[in-house]
Amino acid sequence: MSMNLIEKDRVATINPLKTCQPLGAMWAVTGISRAVPLVHGSQGCSAFVRYCLSRHFREPSEIAVTSLHEDAAVFGGRKNLVEGIQNVAIRLKPDFIGVITTCSSEIIGDDVIGFIKTAKGELKEKIGEEAVEKIKIIPISTPSFVETHLKGYDNTIKALADYVAEPSQPNEKINIIPGMVNPGDIREIKHMLRLMDIESIVLADISDPFDAPLRPSTTEYKPYYPKGGTTVDEIVDSANSVGTISLTKYAGSGALSLEKKYNVPAELGPIPIGVRNTDQFLRNLKKLTGQDIPDSILDERGLLIDSMADVASRYLFDKTVAIYGDPEITSGIARFVGELGMEPKLVLTGSKSQEFVKDIEKVAKETGAEIDTMIDQDLRSMEVYLKDNPVDLMIGGSDARLMAKENDIPLVRVGYPVYDRVGYHRRPIVGYNGGIQLMDLITNTVLEKYYEPEHWKLQQ
Ligand code: SF4
Repeated sequence: MSMNLIEKDRVATINPLKTCQPLGAMWAVTGISRAVPLVHGSQGCSAFVRYCLSRHFREPSEIAVTSLHEDAAVFGGRKNLVEGIQNVAIRLKPDFIGVITTCSSEIIGDDVIGFIKTAKGELKEKIGEEAVEKIKIIPISTPSFVETHLKGYDNTIKALADYVAEPSQPNEKINIIPGMVNPGDIREIKHMLRLMDIESIVLADISDPFDAPLRPSTTEYKPYYPKGGTTVDEIVDSANSVGTISLTKYAGSGALSLEKKYNVPAELGPIPIGVRNTDQFLRNLKKLTGQDIPDSILDERGLLIDSMADVASRYLFDKTVAIYGDPEITSGIARFVGELGMEPKLVLTGSKSQEFVKDIEKVAKETGAEIDTMIDQDLRSMEVYLKDNPVDLMIGGSDARLMAKENDIPLVRVGYPVYDRVGYHRRPIVGYNGGIQLMDLITNTVLEKYYEPEHWKLQQ
């Protein structure tokens, strides 16, 4: 029925719901084939992110750092970056180096573009012009003291559009900017594209690098680089696609840049979580590519609707939910739980986005729910809220696991980060198949908490 925006009433942040921009940049660069994220900052800026990514994906995370110390804070980080680029280029022979700035290099005001030029000039003398030209080295500006990890991701995809994409011949492909979703989600998106017979360029495809097969080292793969990822040639070719769909409007700058520079039409969001959003994603695909939606996809939709009919009114109706996390995933889940007959009572994000407020207003109208909404807030705000406004279920990442336990509220883990359970990065929550998986997860959690041990008798 209505959306009630609850303002933040303190300055300090306690248990933040966001991390800094470079994490999003390192995430995106890892999705590029034979790429090295080179963090221009102090060691902690890469060590912290490597730890966070590894515990979520349970994969090694290879990230280089220019290792700035006190002298760089005074004299600048030129020497570190110029030498760092050369070390990475000579030792690892990558196709792509993304130079990611941090708090320190942004505040010092390092001329990253100039330093890259200098490094390339010196490299030419060491490994030859041809070898240097083969490596794309691009600056990615991620001032960490503003916005969130999602903005860092967005800035990276925009840098790919601005520095790497080049127009040539039309390619009949669709660009997909997945946002910070899991490998399982990207695989589900690719599955839908296959069913529609659409070729795609995923900017950038973390599905294999962050969920890579463990195989004996062969001559086929270099030991350092994981299999998969979007190739530099594909990124170059993204300027020739029939359109770009960014699954999140909160990270759509790359799509808008491709539209402005190369007339590649852009559609931003919504993330295909639940029925309505997935329908819209398919409509966008059809509009941009002209491809029809095949029976096989309509069957998948039918399976989701059938499963919803089985459980929604019996087990889920009227259950209240608190949802927290990144804005697109949070608003997508709020709409989906509304479709399931549940009541999204609180939605909370660490991002300061008025777009998010508008999205939740729409969800409130569609579902008829009264939704308390918090933007630019932290998990402490949710903790305080829940003391007076208990809910039946929480949906979000692992960071609120202790709060869930203390308040005796069951927690459904989704999104990033999930580090106290395994396998969640493989399970899709997008598309009709992802909808079934998410709904089953929600239903089984509700059954275990509110219906055990008698619920099965209701069916006799
Ligand atoms: S907030 Fe700044 S100093 Fe801290 S890890 Fe991020 S980039 Fe580094």
